[in-house]
Amino acid sequence: MNRVTLLFLESGNRNFKKSAFELATIGMNLAADCRGELHAVIMGCGLESKLDELKCFGISKIYYIESAELEYFHVHTYAPALFTLIKEIQPYIVLGMSSVIGKDLFPRLSAMLGVTMVSDCINIECNNNSIIATRPVYSGKVFVKTRFTKGAPYIATLRVNSAEINKIESSGFEVKKIQFIKIEKQQGVLLEIKEGEKKKIGITQADIVVSGGRALKNSNDFSILYEIADIVGGAVAASRAAVDAGCASYDMQVGQTGKTVSPKLYVCFGISGAVQHMAGANGSKLIVAVNKDPDAPIFKYADYGIIGDVYEIAHEIKKMLNS
Ligand SMILES: Cc1cc2nc3c(=O)[nH]c(=O)nc-3n(C[C@H](O)[C@H](O)[C@H](O)COP(=O)(O)OP(=O)(O)OC[C@H]3O[C@@H](n4cnc5c(N)ncnc54)[C@H](O)[C@@H]3O)c2cc1C
Repeated sequence: MNRVTLLFLESGNRNFKKSAFELATIGMNLAADCRGELHAVIMGCGLESKLDELKCFGISKIYYIESAELEYFHVHTYAPALFTLIKEIQPYIVLGMSSVIGKDLFPRLSAMLGVTMVSDCINIECNNNSIIATRPVYSGKVFVKTRFTKGAPYIATLRVNSAEINKIESSGFEVKKIQFIKIEKQQGVLLEIKEGEKKKIGITQADIVVSGGRALKNSNDFSILYEIADIVGGAVAASRAAVDAGCASYDMQVGQTGKTVSPKLYVCFGISGAVQHMAGANGSKLIVAVNKDPDAPIFKYADYGIIGDVYEIAHEIKKMLNS
């Protein structure tokens, strides 16, 4: 039996998202484990010129459901289109990202297909002929391994930033264009897209993330973090306490109910290190913490700690970077 791993690769603004390449890497490893083929489905329009970017992941076939109506994600158009494709090609496993889109799309898709789904995994592997997904629970304190047992296709979503992108020599793929058939009785229509405030670089993409917590009293206090981030070409993030206090926007929140980041350097100013925050920051390669409390839990996670006042230290760091 050819066990096809089917990837749903996300795009936006006619480009593949970074997470598409992460998922392609995860899929490449899983397909090799399963000794099966790796296929991918992409949806949208204007992606032809970008297809070459997918060449180094061992994908043998790409299904391109092309339509201007799919340029922006809408679950009522995407889910039926993906459902029809899966019914037709009968993959063994379907992988997507646990992104804003994935969290909307895949639970609906698994219900439509009547199959099992495991969400927010950090690893997926084929072991002794079984597919095993690993996912963190209790804010990353415990890791649960789940083995799929009931009939395929199995569905799993992977946590963003859970894999390093890895490319291989690959011989290229066949592209099969699929006609998008709009369902007549659509339950919802997309009326408008409102772009959020444009950030120079997103927190999930930045190599350096400068993060602020409750210690910063208002949004003006965050400006020193923006200045530091500007100097080093990084992005500014926040704890939930800072977001709830209105000092930062929700798209900057790191943690269990925010985003997962894995930058090369995560510098946190006045963040205590609650497990819910660290669930989103633990994947950082190097953590530097600034806190006035020497017993703050953040120091257990930090590679380097600075005990002191956030304002003083932040200004000192800025001065040093400028000189
Ligand atoms: C279900 C659930 C989900 C959650 N999801 C998230 C999430 O996604 N992300 C998240 O961040 N939190 C989340 N939380 C909240 C989390 O538990 C913490 O309450 C939150 O992370 C605390 O934010 P903080 O560290 O900024 O604030 P605090 O915990 O109040 O810490 C502030 C720190 O600043 C230090 N400090 C104060 N003043 C100064 C100063 N002048 N100089 C230096 N240091 C100073 C203090 O010593 C303290 O350590 C969640 C909670 C629950 C229950």
